[in-house]
Amino acid sequence: MNIHEFQGKQLLERYGIPKPDGIVAKTPQEASAAFEKLGGSLAVVKAQIHAGGRGKGTIKSNPEQHGVELVRSAADAARVAEALIGNELVTIQTGPEGQTVKQVLVEAGCDIARELYLGIVVDRGEKKPVLMVSTEGGMDIEKVAEETPEKIYKQGFLPADGLAAADAKVLAGKLGLEGASVDAAVTFMQSICKLFVELDCSLAEINPLVVTGSGDIMALDAKVNFDDNALFRHKDVLEFRDTSEENPNELRAGEAGLSYVQLEGNIGCLVNGAGLAMSTMDLVNLHGGHPSNFLDVGGGANKDQVTEAFRILLGDKNVKAVLVNIFGGIMQCTTIANAVLAAYKEVGFNVPLVVRLEGTEVEEGRKILAESGVDIITAEGLTDAAKKVVAAAG
Ligand code: ADP
Ligand code: MG
Repeated sequence: MNIHEFQGKQLLERYGIPKPDGIVAKTPQEASAAFEKLGGSLAVVKAQIHAGGRGKGTIKSNPEQHGVELVRSAADAARVAEALIGNELVTIQTGPEGQTVKQVLVEAGCDIARELYLGIVVDRGEKKPVLMVSTEGGMDIEKVAEETPEKIYKQGFLPADGLAAADAKVLAGKLGLEGASVDAAVTFMQSICKLFVELDCSLAEINPLVVTGSGDIMALDAKVNFDDNALFRHKDVLEFRDTSEENPNELRAGEAGLSYVQLEGNIGCLVNGAGLAMSTMDLVNLHGGHPSNFLDVGGGANKDQVTEAFRILLGDKNVKAVLVNIFGGIMQCTTIANAVLAAYKEVGFNVPLVVRLEGTEVEEGRKILAESGVDIITAEGLTDAAKKVVAAAG
C-alpha cells in the first residue's frame, strides 16, 4: 500500500524525524490560510498524489504548471493551489493520463544547502532491509542508480537490532557531513530504520534529505509503502489508504480476493497459482507478446471469482486477446470451463480467447467448452498456448 507525502510525514513526526511544518489544503482559500498560518515569507505548494516526480511533472491542461512550486505570498499559494487542485498532474510515474490532484500540502520553505538521498528497501539478496544514501539527492536519483551506482552507499541491518550507530556514522561520513550534522544524520537514519521495521514498510524513501543552511538534517519529501500482508496489524496506517489513487482493476480484483497486477501489454492472462502465472508471463514474452496483467485466481477460486476475473480482463480496452492457463489441482477444470461460459453469456468475448486446461477434471472441462459452441482457441501445453495467444493478439 502506498500513501501520500503528507501522511508519510505524519509518520515521520511520530518517530521524531525532522521535517518542515506543513498544512494540507483542499481549496485555494485553505492554501492561502495555510500560508498565513505557517507565517514565513516562503512556502512550497505540493500536489498530493501517490506518484513521484511531481516537481518535474506538469499539469496536463497547463504544461507551465509544475506539481511542486515555491510561493512567496498567501495569494500566490492560492493561485498555485487553484492551478493544481482538480487537474491532472502528469509525471514520469503516472503515465500520460496523469493523476487528479485532490489536495495540496502547503509547507514551510526550507533553506536548502544540500540535497541528499535516503532510501530503505528490503534487499532479497541480502535477506534484510538495506539503507541506501547518496550525495546525489533531488529529482534525478533514478539516473544516478543507472549511470553512477557507485555514488549510492548501502548498509544492511537486522530488523531486531536496527541500524547500528557506528554504521550510520560511516554513512554520514560518506555523505560528507561534518560537526553537529553527523549526529543529526545518525539519529535520523536510526529513527527511520526503526519506523521502517515497526510499521512493516516495503519502502521508505526521503528524496531529498536536506542539509539546511544552519546544518540541520530534514526530510523534504517522504515516500512510504507498506507490505500489504502486514497491514492487518497496523489499523492506523490502513486509515491512510486512498483507494481513489489505486488502479481500478487492481482494486476490483482485490475486493474479489484475486491477486492482480496491472501491466502495460495487451494479452490478458488468467492463471491459477503465482508460479504458473509468472511462467505464463515469461512464455508470452518469450514468444513476442506482452501481458496486460498478472492475475492469479488462486488455488480455490470459485465460479464467481473467476467470472469477476473475466469481467476485469474483458473490460480492459488494452486487452487484445486472453489466455486462460489453468492447472487444476485444487481448482477443478470444470469450474473454469463453467466460468468461461458464464462470462461469455454475461459480457461476450470481444477478443480471441485461448484456453489451456490441465489437471483435475480436465476431460469434463474440455467437453463443456467443446459442446458450448463458443468460439474458443484450445491449446495443448504452455508453449502452444503462448504462441497461439501471441498470434491472436496480433
Ligand atoms: P517529487 O519528488 O515528487 O518531485 P519533492 O517533494 O521531492 O517532490 O519536491 C521536489 C523538489 O522541490 C525538491 O527536490 C526540493 O528541491 C523542492 N522542495 C520540496 N519541498 C520543499 C520545501 N519544503 N522547501 C523548499 N524546497 C522544497
Ligand atoms: Mg522527491
